[in-house]
Amino acid sequence: MNISKSEKLFEEAQKFIPGGVNSPVRAFKSVGGKPLFIKEGKGSKFTDADGNEYIDYIGSWGPHLFGHNPDFIIDALNEAIKKGTSFGAPTEIEIKMAELITELVPSVEKVRMVNSGTEATMSAVRAARGFTGRDKFIKFEGCYHGHADYFLIKAGSGALTLGVPTSPGVTKGNAADTLLAEYNNIESIKELVANNKDEIAAVIIEPIAGNMGVIKSEDNFLKELRSICDEEGIVLIFDEVMTGFRVAKGGAQEILGITPDLSTFGKIIGGGLPVGAFGGKAEIMNQIAPVGPIYQAGTLSGNPLAMSAGFAALNYIKNNPNIYDLLEEKSAYLADGFAKNLEKIGKKYAMTRIGSMMCLFFTEEEVTDFQSAVKSNTELYGKYFHKMLEQGIYLAPAQFEALFVSTVHSKEDFDKTINAHYNSLIEIL
Ligand SMILES: *Cc1c(COP(=O)(O)O)cnc(C)c1O
Repeated sequence: MNISKSEKLFEEAQKFIPGGVNSPVRAFKSVGGKPLFIKEGKGSKFTDADGNEYIDYIGSWGPHLFGHNPDFIIDALNEAIKKGTSFGAPTEIEIKMAELITELVPSVEKVRMVNSGTEATMSAVRAARGFTGRDKFIKFEGCYHGHADYFLIKAGSGALTLGVPTSPGVTKGNAADTLLAEYNNIESIKELVANNKDEIAAVIIEPIAGNMGVIKSEDNFLKELRSICDEEGIVLIFDEVMTGFRVAKGGAQEILGITPDLSTFGKIIGGGLPVGAFGGKAEIMNQIAPVGPIYQAGTLSGNPLAMSAGFAALNYIKNNPNIYDLLEEKSAYLADGFAKNLEKIGKKYAMTRIGSMMCLFFTEEEVTDFQSAVKSNTELYGKYFHKMLEQGIYLAPAQFEALFVSTVHSKEDFDKTINAHYNSLIEIL
């Protein structure tokens, strides 16, 4: 049997890179098989090293709201690169970027640029801790906030036991300061707050969860969370690394109508380049160095190439606010096709969708939190993933990830995808 170019590259890559990849989920471990190496992408599609074309629904895990390599971002990068790649001194584009973010997301009065979502969330938690003078913070089971030590904690057994690290290398000390609550369960928050009076600096949450599949927070839940934070002097951080500029121009906070104290961004904000940002109330952000004592820095933060791509993306959003209606229409068409297939096949698999983020869970029970999401049959998802891949549809190589629709996915793409979905389910069930 001929060995494919992707397989050859994967063999080579494993000699020099742990697992052959620079981020673990790319290795296909949770669906089995070997990863494809990608050569190039344009619009809704990309091509692998062997020349196979795929309709792509991960969009680099979220950044590609406008598909691969949109012309207006290429143009912005071409202009920027002529002037230099990095100066380590302020540039005008950083002001334009910051101003535009504060315009699109009104809760952000001041913003600091960083280089990834992870940097944004870890800096936001530090800002909250520095501002409140408290050490502990609350995160929710199933929410992902990047890979900083104190986020890699899961609930211990029994509600009141300490959290435990999910990775070697994370200290017990880190685990002790991270408190775990249950998504959509306000009682779990009340209990933690009562048991850690005046010790909690922040609550960080994905206001629409996208890292345990796609799960929306219930209306009253966020409202109550907001008022508990107000009463207790706790900084409420919305991690909008995925949802920011994805579900609405002002992120999840715009559609949910809840105002956080701090927000974090990544993915779309970089237009495909490595960018993150955290920002919010001026009162808190003014405690960040050099105005205040809370240290935060970055050699390449606000990099002119990254800013020009990010600014082009956000400026496009500002000038074309109708794209969210378009994304809704497109995504509804695709979800509707999936739903009809499920009906034909007689399966009631849970499907969730908020705008252009959606997830098909291989469980017939309703999914509202981490515990219900993990009831999904991940082995079946793996089979489904590979059947879709064989038919030229590239989905996330893991069950608990979002499917992203871009502004450039076409009806033809969707019809092909819906057809493949039907064929795949028939074959694997
Ligand atoms: C992707 C993601 C992160 C981490 O961002 P990186 O750029 O991968 O470090 C943090 N929070 C959420 C909600 C994310 O989806």
